Amino acid sequence: MSYPNSEKLFAAAQQVIPGGVNSPARAFGAVGGQPLFIERGSGPYIWDADGNRYIDYVLSWGPLILGHANPDVVAALKEAAERGTSYGAPTALETELAELVCEMVPSAEQVRFVNSGTEATMSVLRLARAYTGRDKIIKLQGNYHGHADFLLVQAGSAVATLGLPDSPGVPKGMTQDTLTAPYNDLDAVESLFNQFGDEIAGIIVEPVAGNMGMVPPVEGYLSGLQALCRKHGALLIFDEVMTGFRVAPGGAQEYFGITPDLTALGKVIGGGLPVGAYAGRREIMQTVAPAGPMYQAGTLSGNPLAVTAGIATLRGLKQPGVFETMVERTTMLSEGIGAAAEAAGITLQRTQAGTMFCFFFNEQPVTDWDSASKSDLALFGRFFHAMLSRGVYFPPSQYESWFFSTVHSQEIVVATIQAAQTAFAEITV
Ligand SMILES: *Cc1c(COP(=O)(O)O)cnc(C)c1O
Repeated sequence: MSYPNSEKLFAAAQQVIPGGVNSPARAFGAVGGQPLFIERGSGPYIWDADGNRYIDYVLSWGPLILGHANPDVVAALKEAAERGTSYGAPTALETELAELVCEMVPSAEQVRFVNSGTEATMSVLRLARAYTGRDKIIKLQGNYHGHADFLLVQAGSAVATLGLPDSPGVPKGMTQDTLTAPYNDLDAVESLFNQFGDEIAGIIVEPVAGNMGMVPPVEGYLSGLQALCRKHGALLIFDEVMTGFRVAPGGAQEYFGITPDLTALGKVIGGGLPVGAYAGRREIMQTVAPAGPMYQAGTLSGNPLAVTAGIATLRGLKQPGVFETMVERTTMLSEGIGAAAEAAGITLQRTQAGTMFCFFFNEQPVTDWDSASKSDLALFGRFFHAMLSRGVYFPPSQYESWFFSTVHSQEIVVATIQAAQTAFAEITV
C-alpha cells in the first residue's frame, strides 16, 4: 500500500514538530513505515488523508469508548461551546461529572479534575506523600504512569519501544525515592517494605497493566498489595487512567472487587477531550488545597467543554445493557482472532479484561515485563501491516493494549476476524 498524502503531511510535520508527532506512541517506530494522518472519524471507523477507511481499535488510545464523533457527545459539545469555552470559575458541570465519578468508581468519595493522566498520577502521588508524610513510592516495572520525571523509571511501552531505559533529562535526584519491583511479584514488594517500611507513602499500580501490552494481575496480587499497604501504613493507589470506565463501569476496582485508597483517572473520563482526575476517600482528599495544605492547581482544570464530553460519555456508558454487550463482543473478537491464529499455526497469548485486550506473539504466558519483552516483534510488525492493508487499525506496537467501543458491532467483529484469517495466512508463508 502507498499513502502519498500521509507521506507528504508527515514530511511537513517533521520540519516543525520533533519526529513529526506530538506523542511518541503515534510514530510507527516499532512496526516500520510511517504514521497515517487521520482526517476524520465516525463510529468505529477512521479515514486517513488518502481516503482509506479503517476499523479503529486504537480509539485515541482508549478514551473513545462510545466511538468517534458520538452524536450525543458532539451535540452536548456544540451546545456547551456556544456558551463559552472557559471561565476560570466553578461551573455546575464539574459537580455533575464529579457526582457521576463518585457513583461509578467505588473508591471515589471526592474528585479533583486535572487535564491529563500525567497530571493525575503526579498529583495523586503528591497527595499520598502529603497525607502520609513519607517520601518513597513503589512503582512496578512495565507500568506507565505518564511522563512525570520521578515516574519515568522502567515505564513500559512507548519508552520501551524506543529502547530508552530511562529518559535523559531526568535528574538522578528525581528518581531516588522511586522504588521498583517486577509486576505480579508480591515477594519483591514485600522485601521493599521490609527494607523501607515506614518511609513508603504508597504503591502505584496499573490494576490491569496496559502499557506493556495488556497483562492482567495474577490471582491474589492486588489483594496482596493492599494487605502489605495496610500492614505498613502506606496507601494503595490504582492508576486507572486506562482501565477506568473500561474494564468495568467502575474500573478495575469494581472488576476485581478491591477498593484502593486513591485512584488516578484519565482517558475515558474526558470522552476524547483532555481530562484527568484523582479521587479517593474524603478524609485523604481533604488534604488538597484549598480544603487542605497540598497545593495543586490548573488554569483549564474542569474546563466546561472537556467536562461536558466526560458527562455525555459516562451517561452513554450507563445505559442499560450497553457495557455487557460491549464486553461480549470484545470476547467474541478476542476468541475469533485467537482461533484464526491457531488455524494458521501461530502461537498467540491472548489477554482480555472487559474491553481492553491484546495478543502477544509469544510462546509463553505473559505476566510481567520480562516475559512480555520475549515476544516476536518482527512477526507482530508483519501482522500489523497485513491488517492495516485490510483496513484494520490497531496500536502500532506489541506493547500496547487494543480498545473496543459500544459502536463496534457484531458485523465489525466478524469483518475483523476475517481480515485476521487472511492476514495470518499471508504472514506465515
Ligand atoms: C495514558 C496513561 C497515563 C498518562 O495519561 P496522559 O493523558 O497520556 O498523560 C497514565 N497512566 C496510565 C495507566 C495510562 O495508560
